[in-house]
Amino acid sequence: MNRLSYPGLRVVIVGAGFAGLTAAIECKIRGLNPVLVETYPGPSSHGDLLDFVRNAGRVFESWGNGKVGRRLASVSPNAAKYLDFLNSKNELLRREDWPQATDIQYVFAGHRGEMHEIVYDYAKEIGVDLQFGKRVVHYLDTEDERGVIVDGGEKILGDVVIAADGPKSLARCELLGLEESKVNSGYAIFRAYFNITPEMLEKPFFSELVRRDEDIVRCWVGPDIHGFIYVWKNGRDCAWVLTHLDDSDIAESWSESASKEDVIYYLEKAGFPEVWRETVDATPESRLIDYKLVWRDPLRTWLSPSKKCAVIGDAAHCHLPTSAQGACQAVEDAVTISMCLQKCEGDVALGLQVFERIRFNRSHTIHQASISTRDIYHKNDWTPEMVKRNPNSLVLPFYDWVTEYNVFEEVENNYGRLAADIKAGRQGSIEELSLPAGGNYDAMNIAGDEGNKLRESRLA
Ligand SMILES: Cc1cc2nc3c(=O)[nH]c(=O)nc-3n(C[C@H](O)[C@H](O)[C@H](O)COP(=O)(O)OP(=O)(O)OC[C@H]3O[C@@H](n4cnc5c(N)ncnc54)[C@H](O)[C@@H]3O)c2cc1C
Repeated sequence: MNRLSYPGLRVVIVGAGFAGLTAAIECKIRGLNPVLVETYPGPSSHGDLLDFVRNAGRVFESWGNGKVGRRLASVSPNAAKYLDFLNSKNELLRREDWPQATDIQYVFAGHRGEMHEIVYDYAKEIGVDLQFGKRVVHYLDTEDERGVIVDGGEKILGDVVIAADGPKSLARCELLGLEESKVNSGYAIFRAYFNITPEMLEKPFFSELVRRDEDIVRCWVGPDIHGFIYVWKNGRDCAWVLTHLDDSDIAESWSESASKEDVIYYLEKAGFPEVWRETVDATPESRLIDYKLVWRDPLRTWLSPSKKCAVIGDAAHCHLPTSAQGACQAVEDAVTISMCLQKCEGDVALGLQVFERIRFNRSHTIHQASISTRDIYHKNDWTPEMVKRNPNSLVLPFYDWVTEYNVFEEVENNYGRLAADIKAGRQGSIEELSLPAGGNYDAMNIAGDEGNKLRESRLA
């Protein structure tokens, strides 16, 4: 066994999304020596809405004695009271308490770019080696050289590579030897984020969404469509996302521009209420994008053959937004891999195998739920009566086993046992060798004939 220098283990991390930044921060805090390589020159302002619930929120809260949590909370919709679900007739289907209006802690939501900058700033503050503006063009995974080559030929080497290079991961091909396997999920998502001006407030339906003393968070559902509108920060910011059938062939990109006519077409088809049309009217066209939702089947392993390189986050499991957990799972991956690298005492291959066995079943189950949740939202003609008959069907998929998961405790409680299994050569499939997922989404299923109709329509 090749034991490497410990504690100064040099960890090459690729990609400064939430997965890579969290891994770099957690490695640094644990006395390892991370270097983070990212194509963009600075923190990315891309994106619109992103919610972190408690399983990831408790990680941010643990940094800097709560300082990062406080910063994230300051940009979240803290003054919201409810999350309302409505149908295309604008009938209220379900009202949930908004977490910040309760005593639930560690839930952060808001504009992805703002939250990303806060996490980036903390990485900088604690002295993570940030190598931005460098695009990785090759991965190296031999006994002599482990690391990356960036544009221009520079090699950045280390003892272990964590590839957090997102849904279009090069590492999946170069380190895991997999072919590109994306499939069109059949859906795309219009996304927009903008500041609200006084002129916008003159529109009657739009102004109904804006209050000075309360943030408003609403979700509309209909056949083959659903969308959220958030208005927060004393009525200053608005973001909305609308998942729709994808019958054109847009490229897989963060920044495919879209026209308002395209959005209106889908809104009219779904019969969505006037407030949607006014929100779209108010949106500056330059802030509107259409993002193709690509599905990737679960990988059988996240480790390279040497077991000294791993993919994490969306590179390992590219969620659809309907799991509402893609970034949260990326954060769990990042903490787990950093703790395992700290605990493995230089035996990187052992640490990464334990990491995979802690994460595999949980991540797989949550990843798959992004499809089933979308189908439940989309394959129904929602009425208040139907929701009354099936009270658990129209919910955000946040069960206790998802949100109350404490990643720090999970690693502490299981590292020793799983490491012993690996050393003893215990045999079995990855599912058998890994920790159980801890739960499922069965409670959302719609009962009886109504549920059968849904299942038939899914097969159609
Ligand atoms: C509309 C929408 C809404 C969502 N809402 C939620 C939500 O509410 N809650 C939630 O938990 N999740 C949500 N998600 C999912 C979440 O956004 C992703 O799962 C998460 O951001 C993935 O993080 P990541 O760090 O793995 O990847 P990314 O954020 O994609 O980061 C990858 C990074 O790697 C860099 N990179 C890539 N290739 C290279 C290279 N060759 N060299 C150097 N750098 C490279 C990229 O520039 C990028 O910065 C949503 C997703 C969408 C699309």
